[in-house]
Amino acid sequence: MIRSPRGVEDILPLRISSYQWVEREASLLFSRYGYEEMRTPIFEQTDLFLRSIGRETDAGKNMYTFQDKKGRSLSLRPEATASIIRAYIQHKLYGEEDLWRVYYMGSMFRYERPQRGRLREFHQIGVETIGQGSPWVDVELVEMVVRFFKGLGLSHFYIRLNSIGCRGCRASYEKELKKYLEFHLDSLCPVCQERARVNTLRALDCKNDKCQSIIREAPGIEGYLCESCLAHFEKVRRGLKEVGVKFTVDPHLVRGLDYYTRTIFEIISSNLGAQDAVCGGGRYDDLVEDLEGPPTPAMGFSIGVERLLEALEKEGIAPPPGGEPTVYIVTLDGRSQIKGYELANFLRSKGVKTQLNLTPKGLSSQLKLVNRKKIRWTIIVGEKEVKEKTVILRDMESGKQETIEQGKWNEISQKLGR
Ligand SMILES: [Zn+2]
Ligand SMILES: [Zn+2]
Repeated sequence: MIRSPRGVEDILPLRISSYQWVEREASLLFSRYGYEEMRTPIFEQTDLFLRSIGRETDAGKNMYTFQDKKGRSLSLRPEATASIIRAYIQHKLYGEEDLWRVYYMGSMFRYERPQRGRLREFHQIGVETIGQGSPWVDVELVEMVVRFFKGLGLSHFYIRLNSIGCRGCRASYEKELKKYLEFHLDSLCPVCQERARVNTLRALDCKNDKCQSIIREAPGIEGYLCESCLAHFEKVRRGLKEVGVKFTVDPHLVRGLDYYTRTIFEIISSNLGAQDAVCGGGRYDDLVEDLEGPPTPAMGFSIGVERLLEALEKEGIAPPPGGEPTVYIVTLDGRSQIKGYELANFLRSKGVKTQLNLTPKGLSSQLKLVNRKKIRWTIIVGEKEVKEKTVILRDMESGKQETIEQGKWNEISQKLGR
């Protein structure tokens, strides 16, 4: 038997309703804030990702990279922002509007050790807002995702917020942090010893207890922010308070991708284990220019769908039941098959989910199937019914049934609420 590769999952029909539900709620809400959906390719030229998310980041190091038949290096997307900005520049969308807003949903790929809350193919829902640098953009973005989570019914989560400054002020902070980490080098885990050298800020993200105790005492960035980054951060914090969004400033918060500037945030579910960030995002005011577009401020976030679903499950929140009634039509011989087919299509045209028996089977085995599938309504079309030009409608919950004449099929759909 051929099994699926390690670290990827099938989403079986039983679970798909949860995905569809959060995707539907996201599109509804985001479109009310002026976002439109965008779809980008699953793979891109490897360089696009190396130049945006960075070579030394976890996402950059763990890409699925391969050569095509012409020897070009391509990679499966480890995230979507780089592709969206690539498209923004390629199609010269900056010429059209000063504020361009898109959302996306789809699979991302990272070759990491699979564990709970971390798959090699995972799903993200995210947004990008491109073209404006106002702190109110940051406020609205965070407020929107909080509204999204609350709208789904989630309540056990909190926001960590920080500013990682611009390139100018971050460099001086990085220098100080490096000094600090190098002073404590012997007490750090091997990964952090390496990070202290090449990817200093990421050391702040280490979950190792010993590293954590050192990081807690490390200098925070706030004292190093330049005047303009500091003013921006203050306006974001004030704005969030004004619109009623609660948050915690964490001076040691960093994000795993290189392109971030200024405001960054994470939304943490209190119910998940080590992989507890359900959403992460921030500003990336240099990325458009880095990828050879005009200087353009931008910001975005992405939500890990699998983690969100786990967080919802932990709070006992299930997708609302589907509103459409479901019917199963029992047919018992050749002529009833044709009658059943007509009736099925009539009901489908009325918005009723209708399953029709298509193979010769007895009444009892068909009813057994109806019970197993928990379908509420059954319609029986047998030899007798065809002769008498009737059908039998049975409510499987109450066990009541009635005979309905041909030509009165409308009554059936009315009884089912359609
Ligand atoms: Zn700055
Ligand atoms: Zn460490």
